[in-house]
Amino acid sequence: MDEASRARIRIFLNDPAARGQHPVSSEPPSETERRPWGFRVEGNAPPPRPYEPDTPEFLYWQIASALGRGRSLWSRLLPGAGTWVRGAVLPAIPVDGEDLNAFYDRKALHFFRDVNAKTGEIVQSGDSPDIVTHEQGHAVLDSIRPDLWDAPHFEVAAFHEGFGDLAAILVALDDGDLARAAIEETKGSLDHSNLVSRLAEELAAAVVAKYGPDAALPDALRDAVNSFRYVAPKSLPDEGPADALSREPHSFSRVVTGACWDVLVRLSLAGNGSDRLAALQKAAQDLGRLVAAAAERTAPTATFFRRFATELRKAASGDSTTKAAVTRALTSRDLLSAKESEPDFRSESQASVGFEPEPLTTRVLDAIRESLGARRDEEILVRASRTDGSLSGRRIRDLVLSGPEYGPADGAAVELSDSFTVAVEESGYVTAARVESAGPDEEEDAREFVRTLARLGRIAQEDGSGSDARRLYEERKSHFVALEPDGVRRLRRAWVQGKRP
Ligand SMILES: [Zn+2]
Repeated sequence: MDEASRARIRIFLNDPAARGQHPVSSEPPSETERRPWGFRVEGNAPPPRPYEPDTPEFLYWQIASALGRGRSLWSRLLPGAGTWVRGAVLPAIPVDGEDLNAFYDRKALHFFRDVNAKTGEIVQSGDSPDIVTHEQGHAVLDSIRPDLWDAPHFEVAAFHEGFGDLAAILVALDDGDLARAAIEETKGSLDHSNLVSRLAEELAAAVVAKYGPDAALPDALRDAVNSFRYVAPKSLPDEGPADALSREPHSFSRVVTGACWDVLVRLSLAGNGSDRLAALQKAAQDLGRLVAAAAERTAPTATFFRRFATELRKAASGDSTTKAAVTRALTSRDLLSAKESEPDFRSESQASVGFEPEPLTTRVLDAIRESLGARRDEEILVRASRTDGSLSGRRIRDLVLSGPEYGPADGAAVELSDSFTVAVEESGYVTAARVESAGPDEEEDAREFVRTLARLGRIAQEDGSGSDARRLYEERKSHFVALEPDGVRRLRRAWVQGKRP
């Protein structure tokens, strides 16, 4: 064995402040810039060695290791996917300044360093696999669902956060030692808080030391073991203390993260009774597959959570035990109604697209245009499912906002989506076409979403300097108004954060 193949690194498998955490020896990730989900930690790569924590060399390999674990997970859950919005390689910046935070801006993952004001200890967000794989989760979701990025809805923004937290949980449970430790800590009752369900423990302690006890839970930034049930986000306050539900995306995300944890617990119980570890890891794999499938299919609308729940149940329908676990967990969170029905969806079956030798997609698009009542020149975005023969897509429609309550977005537009899914049979017939136009409820949700951003001061003033995400991040402006090539001013997102400041 040569020197290089024996080189090992030291890493935290879980958050540095998670129960029982200490650095362990690990293989360095290899060929990190290759598809799928290639990445590059910025800065000179130190040779793989067991470095001391709180050194730049340790941080480099800590981030690389976490991203490598995430890449392994997403390669399995999303076969065929693996290219980022920005291209083949996603850079990660280990220390992009002094802060208690991390963010993704479609170009890179940004991590920060600060000290815990109470203990004086260094806190680097890149040291936490919870945070690194949460941010990577944002980027993965953005890759498979770029349409969610600018969708002006509370539940879509919250889902982005929930997906990030589920990414962190699934990466953790992929590791046998962490899964075993979660079983030991809870004595097998995984509906109790544990070192995997608790996220970003070290950062949370520093956040509490700096901003006070309402800014995070006492022992974590968020905990997937929670009892938050679905309520309409517009019925909730703009923001609130960490132990209460608000419409703020990180806070509201806990409904969907908690529901998915409940699914995990039920799947784990339904699994092999004698081998708890095998049952938990199998349950995590199954949950991951269901979440990935449902995340790919859910229409980008105001009622995203319940639609996601419906898609999750549909994805689970092949197996009665799995379906029962999913249905019970989501029903008890009020994400599904007890009776199985989908009254939201208008069905239009057997829209003929004929047998003519012209490209099928043209014929299909014409049928869809007709169903949407869209003009011939209107843009229809279509994507083919990688998992079945269906096509889905949306027509983008501007909703112009008008009034001082929209702040800098007064007079700007947000994009609403009329969405559709069609199954195309080999015979050339479109079957089970589903077309949904965004109605007044969607419009009102979008308006309230932007009013909330304006109230919280999250929308940047237009000053012609464009969308420099790093600068907007420093100013804590998550959104900006862009004058686009078609002459319309539209509200766009600049970045998503790990911890709201
Ligand atoms: Zn986030």
